[in-house]
Amino acid sequence: MSADSAAVRQWVEAYAAVVSEHRGELTRLDQAIGDGDHGTNMDRGMRKAVEKLAGVPDGDVGAQLKAVGMALISSVGGAGGPLYGTLFMQMGQSTTGKEELDAEAFADALEAGVKGVQARGKAEPGDKTMVDALLPAAAALRAAAGEGADLAAALRRAADAAREGRDATIPLVARKGRASYLGERSRDHQDPGATSSHLLLESAATALAS
Ligand code: ADP
Ligand code: MG
Repeated sequence: MSADSAAVRQWVEAYAAVVSEHRGELTRLDQAIGDGDHGTNMDRGMRKAVEKLAGVPDGDVGAQLKAVGMALISSVGGAGGPLYGTLFMQMGQSTTGKEELDAEAFADALEAGVKGVQARGKAEPGDKTMVDALLPAAAALRAAAGEGADLAAALRRAADAAREGRDATIPLVARKGRASYLGERSRDHQDPGATSSHLLLESAATALAS
């Protein structure tokens, strides 16, 4: 089983819906250790992404993902939006010209995306950022693909790894982004960006399951 551009469109739309549903939670998490805008930022950005994607023809998955990335970069200020923009842009770069993604291609894309996020934001694992959910997800996806899992099963494992990575941000002290200004006081809070990244993988596992 693999995902064609209609399925990728469903994923992006599902993520936008899930972000909108979780807007209040993302905002509350960001109020605790940031400036309280992560929910509204991601909601605005993903609405724009869905709008922009509607104008992209079916076929090239890479063109779709790049359009999502550009919409996020141009509509969201601060750190989180442009980092998600980079994630999607690099996923799009990795899938340029592809009409379908299997588990292997999805793993390539997610790895490229996370690499882009790290190149831009300079966060390492353990810095209490979205990277703490995205990196384990990419690793789980790669491992599952290597074992011959189909895309649905591989994404399920990636989403579970992202959830564990998200939960593991709770005891960490933030070393990147606004939360790092709090030092020790950032401990015992779940990172908002790791939370939205888990939702991204969870919506992929759900939307691309059939
Ligand atoms: P801002 O911090 O500008 O208000 P958001 O609230 O939208 O942006 O996003 C905050 C999230 O962005 C954090 O929870 C963290 O996961 C992520 N983040 C912030 N800085 C970085 C960075 N340098 N690298 C990776 N992720 C980061
Ligand atoms: Mg914020």
